[in-house]
Amino acid sequence: MPEGHTVHRLAAAIARGFGGRRVRVSSPQGRFAEAAQLDQMVLLGAEAAGKHLFLSFAPSEDVDRGSPVVRHVHVHLGLYGSWTFAGDPGVFDAHAIGAPRRRLGEQETALDGGEDWRRLVPRPTVRLRLAGEHGLADLTGPTACEILDAEERRAILDRLGPDPLREDASARRFVEAVRRSRTTIGALLMNQKVVAGIGNIYRAELLFRARLDPLVPGRDLSAGMLEEMWEDLVALMTYGARTGRIVTTQPEHREIEARIVERSRGTRQNTDEEADAVPREQSFYVYHRQTLPCRLCGTEIRSGDLAGRTVFWCPSCQSVRSRRAPWSREHPAAPWALDGPSGQRVA
Ligand SMILES: [Zn+2]
Repeated sequence: MPEGHTVHRLAAAIARGFGGRRVRVSSPQGRFAEAAQLDQMVLLGAEAAGKHLFLSFAPSEDVDRGSPVVRHVHVHLGLYGSWTFAGDPGVFDAHAIGAPRRRLGEQETALDGGEDWRRLVPRPTVRLRLAGEHGLADLTGPTACEILDAEERRAILDRLGPDPLREDASARRFVEAVRRSRTTIGALLMNQKVVAGIGNIYRAELLFRARLDPLVPGRDLSAGMLEEMWEDLVALMTYGARTGRIVTTQPEHREIEARIVERSRGTRQNTDEEADAVPREQSFYVYHRQTLPCRLCGTEIRSGDLAGRTVFWCPSCQSVRSRRAPWSREHPAAPWALDGPSGQRVA
């Protein structure tokens, strides 16, 4: 399932390609019949909240976003959904974003020959197609694709915890929700009411970087520790939203002989590629590294079920249970500051 940074990238791509313009809207598959109501409306904007994407449409550009005539399309990709983009160079370079195990579709290959995207016939599985002057976007396999009014949209937003990539996110809400709970921190991080947008990769990596045992109850954690985790999460996800990749390792921890073993497992990240990105097999500390030696201490990484998904951890490094993490005293200013692919500090 795509994690929150991917949904923010999708919102940005859609806003860039169609924002403020009239859009042809259709459902080649026919399962989103309401698409006809939106055809030729203006796309006012695209917004991400956790793993939810909202596209707002209005009869004309000057309509206020709060107006009752605005229609909100709500999309949740779920496990198998993805968007495919095609268009003029520089607008949409052909690529797909979404389901982790979906290979880039035949469309992209066809486009490599310089074919005109305007003549692309949608695959019969396309739930929603947006087409503008400069490109098109096809949505396939979503869990949700529906039209909502402002109240229904608000109801979804109100159910979600703070999203680290949104400007209106409140770290305090995250800290308080965790500290009120007897549930394990490993389960709380996957609860979208506690924090919106985290998936299985960010959960495992965030816990490792905090040296936290995934089974510690939320209420045993100090506010200071949770604030530092939040800041770490903001940095990690900001990097993810900028590059399309999840990278949590510091450069000095990447070189390890076990990478060949990992490559053979074929785990894929759930988003698009970037040429100069850190290789996937060097990007994580614990995610999908069970039975491999920890990058820091050599202890075998373990895996187990927690909140319905597999969690990965180092039983030796992740021994912090209730006190402040030891690194917060050693590096009070920037614990585990994230470095970019070539070692540069990410702003
Ligand atoms: Zn370790």
